[in-house]
Amino acid sequence: MKIRVLGDGYFKLDKSYLVYTKYMGTIYKACFNVLYVEAGGERILVDTGIGELPEKYRKFYPVERKPEEALEARLKSIGVEPGKITLVINTHLHFDHCGNNKLFRNATFLVQVDELRYAYYPDRFMKGGYIREQFDIPGISIEPLYGYREVVEGVEVIPTPGHTPGHQSVVLTRDDGVQVVFCGDAAPLSENLERENIPGIVYSPVSALESIKLLKQLRADVYIYPHEPIPPDKLKLIEQG
Ligand SMILES: [Zn+2]
Repeated sequence: MKIRVLGDGYFKLDKSYLVYTKYMGTIYKACFNVLYVEAGGERILVDTGIGELPEKYRKFYPVERKPEEALEARLKSIGVEPGKITLVINTHLHFDHCGNNKLFRNATFLVQVDELRYAYYPDRFMKGGYIREQFDIPGISIEPLYGYREVVEGVEVIPTPGHTPGHQSVVLTRDDGVQVVFCGDAAPLSENLERENIPGIVYSPVSALESIKLLKQLRADVYIYPHEPIPPDKLKLIEQG
């Protein structure tokens, strides 16, 4: 199994969106960690960053991105053309996790059915996270998942609802036994997992806490948080092998 951590630049948001009832008024510059995984003959992406937001949303979420930081450029830098991606796992359909879905025309998208359904008609208090142009791409192939799924050997998705109704996290078990967990926004920052502080944007606070406890129980060797830079030593461990 080959794992590479990619990105898609940065965006600024109030940090209270990431940690429930904390940091109000603190502006946080968030990265987008995206995973590229080769396993079982598949070329897999986990989440796709923020992409290009429709014009009317740009002032709310200013994106900072050099050309070489864009997901497509990052993929090309490791020798992968977007058309070569065979599977995309979207942890959920918030606009900053599926923004480049449209680039991957030959991929099958693996999304929990609860998330797909909810994205089209979110409750009013969750509407801000879903931008239809980002996830409703004509002609792409979507395979709805109904809970746990082994995607290929060593790549599993587990439901971790709470942040959204159909959120899922990804568990990677490398050939050398090292386990890497991509939390998705079940834990956007390390503090969410380590201090059991639920995300600030949350559909069900109780489910969010249960999902954090489930992720911790996995006792993975490395956890990847989508919106926090990965320390160099951890990055080395993730990408080795
Ligand atoms: Zn989210």
